[in-house]
Amino acid sequence: MSEPDVTTLSLNDVHRLALTALRRHDCSVEQAAAVADTVTAAERDRCASHGLFRIPGYVEALNLGKVDGFAEPTVEMLAPGSIRVDANRGFAPLALDVGAPPLIEAARTNGVAGLGLVNGFHFAALWPEVELICDAGLVGFAFVGSSSFVAPAGGTRKLFGTNPMAFGWPRSNGNSVIFDQASSASARGEIQLHERDGKEIPLDWAIDDDGQPTTDPTAALAGAQLPFGGHKGSGVALMVELLAGALIGDLFSYETTAADTPGGPAIGGEFMLAISPSRFVPGGDADAQLAHAEGLFAEMLSQEGTRLPSDRRYAARAETPATGATIPTSLFATIEALAGH
Ligand code: NDP
Repeated sequence: MSEPDVTTLSLNDVHRLALTALRRHDCSVEQAAAVADTVTAAERDRCASHGLFRIPGYVEALNLGKVDGFAEPTVEMLAPGSIRVDANRGFAPLALDVGAPPLIEAARTNGVAGLGLVNGFHFAALWPEVELICDAGLVGFAFVGSSSFVAPAGGTRKLFGTNPMAFGWPRSNGNSVIFDQASSASARGEIQLHERDGKEIPLDWAIDDDGQPTTDPTAALAGAQLPFGGHKGSGVALMVELLAGALIGDLFSYETTAADTPGGPAIGGEFMLAISPSRFVPGGDADAQLAHAEGLFAEMLSQEGTRLPSDRRYAARAETPATGATIPTSLFATIEALAGH
């Protein structure tokens, strides 16, 4: 079997390449740097699906004028524990960078604080923003609505987005426990990869246009994806719609899809929650709570076959500063061209 044609880049080169490609396509240094940070973090943690792979999509969204590459996010304190960040039709990462400090500050003061990010384009994973919250010693949640691809449990038509949610718990060793997952049974990209490779998909991933379960990826893409775990994933998807849509005054996935234009994910909202553990015990010292949680993690890990969510990423993070990130050479050539090299 022939070796895959890949190119290895240092993490600095990943950042430089992403930044240059975005800057050449009507994007401010602030917007481009925030996206490049997210892309580099994904390559660092070997989350290739949100790394350099996404740059052509970001550039397409800029070229089509769908995303405003010069948008400046604005922050408003609506109440002591309620922050609204308007991304003003820019990419989500800069709006999150701007919104995180007031969210952290408000959670430390009040015990709990929420952030509603509206009018943003979220192309990425949610763990980076949850990790920011956890790094401040807080418990974090994030919820993002997306384009309408998923049928509710028992239904036959797409309605919900693939609607990811993430939860994070801070640890004294710095490696917060974070899970970050879509509420669909599979990522949409997985179905597209099966279609490309001529492979069948599992029967519980999607239904066809007639609402029948299908193993045909093309029929699945024309039909609707299914939530994970039947009615349980459907409930999570519904919650994400409500939190990232109605609660913060943004659109539901089916509404944003109806108004969408080509060029990547539709515009939409994100809801984040930050909780200060020290505000939930008398005396305001979180050490005992964090130590208690370590006991749970140790019990869990004492069972063979288990691992903590995020530990795969942290293992990759320990290696990639030395090994660099590996991407297909064809993708490297595409991004080099976008960067004008
Ligand atoms: P996965 O099913 O790959 O992983 C979900 C979570 O489970 C991760 O936190 C992962 O941690 C953890 N995990 C996986 N295997 C184990 C295990 N054996 N034991 C313990 N934990 C485990 O994620 P999805 O395919 O559902 O989602 C992929 C990404 O796509 C997410 O980052 C999501 O935010 C993003 N997404 C973004 C959208 C958007 O609109 N912006 C839309 C939909 C998805 P680990 O990382 O350590 O493997």
